[in-house]
Amino acid sequence: MSEILIQNIDHLLTMDDTRRELSGVDLRISGGVISAIGQGLPLGGAEVIDARGCVVTPGLVNTHHHLYQSMTRAVPGAQDALLFGWLQKLYPIWAMMGPEEMFVSAQLGLAELALSGCTLSADHLYLYPNGARLDDTISAAKEIGLRFHPTRGAMSIGESDGGLPPDSLVENEAAILEDCIRVIDAHHDPREGAMVRVGIAPCSPFSVSRDLMRDAALLARDKGVMLHTHLAENEEDIAYSLETFGCRPGEYAEDLGWTGPDVWHAHCVKLDGAEIDLFARSRTGVAHCPCSNCRLGSGIAPVRKMRDVGVPVGLGVDGSASNDSANLISEARQAMLLQRVQSGATAMSAREALEIATRGGADVLGRPDCGRLEVGKRADIAVWDCRTVESAGSWDPAALLLAGPTQVRDLFVEGRQIVRDRQLSTIDLGKLVEKQNRLARALAERA
Ligand SMILES: [Zn+2]
Repeated sequence: MSEILIQNIDHLLTMDDTRRELSGVDLRISGGVISAIGQGLPLGGAEVIDARGCVVTPGLVNTHHHLYQSMTRAVPGAQDALLFGWLQKLYPIWAMMGPEEMFVSAQLGLAELALSGCTLSADHLYLYPNGARLDDTISAAKEIGLRFHPTRGAMSIGESDGGLPPDSLVENEAAILEDCIRVIDAHHDPREGAMVRVGIAPCSPFSVSRDLMRDAALLARDKGVMLHTHLAENEEDIAYSLETFGCRPGEYAEDLGWTGPDVWHAHCVKLDGAEIDLFARSRTGVAHCPCSNCRLGSGIAPVRKMRDVGVPVGLGVDGSASNDSANLISEARQAMLLQRVQSGATAMSAREALEIATRGGADVLGRPDCGRLEVGKRADIAVWDCRTVESAGSWDPAALLLAGPTQVRDLFVEGRQIVRDRQLSTIDLGKLVEKQNRLARALAERA
């Protein structure tokens, strides 16, 4: 079993139950777990990482992404559109993608996340053109080395049925459920410390039928996997729900079995008071995506209110077609700032936003074994060097989101070092960037 000793940590933010912060301590990793935290731990033959001048936090957790979209950043014509118009511009481009684009874009997106401190990411892949499969992204994550929660998304209502996506991007509902079963059986690992867990995730209430929403929930409960979708993202979304289903999104979700601790919804910008209470009561999770909400002009999610009544909230960068950056520590800063825009400077502290980005996200994804630095928890750890230009002069380096590095120096996932001295150690990033640019250019030429 490999042993690593992270030594002389200036400031350790544990995110444990009492949110302890420790100074001048060491942290020992044995295999995939944290085996000791304390002062002057014995070397015992461990590989030593010197963390003088560093803040050490749990690895950040990303609860919402569409990794394939890193292939379509800053697309002209979709740069300034609202959600529905934005989708209509991008669907035909995404319809040209295939397995290679899915694999490369997933690697690129996960690499970007890792460099910004992320150790666990969910992904929501809801279109499978030209033979693409969820498996393409799972192979990508294995090579990068991140803990991965891919969700088998889906769309079944195409243009000819009054839906938004072109018919070529939608699937038959029976085939969707069948493929959900296939990927769960092939890849889902329910055990503590799992590196891959699969979820079921119809794209949104407006892109699949009521029947598929209900069947997806039944299947997820039968298989013991989690459920994920987009909900109450903006005013258009609420209007659509009222007009088409005759109720608000929260009621629609509850009716179809889409509430509970095994469900998390992305965005939830427009949840009203009753819906927030419903989510708190049922322990339904929220993936808050502040940059995407700003970029698409969707509004400010009521995160302060959600947290105050006990809704589990995690952070998501969302897809790179609507962010278009996927730096997770910067996303956490944005979450903090956005609550302050709405409710004043005391609305959210740097430490609370970091808590949402770590422990909060882990809880939303059903991973109490991650997101905190405690003996016995998984060794998913981010080391932030605060002797850099970005944090020089800071009186409180542990308030990482105010000043501080936006890239990790070192990153460990399940005890394995993925980032070393600001470089990915698992793949050749230069080659990957080249490949991604070549594929993106080819798509642009055909568009
Ligand atoms: Zn999304």
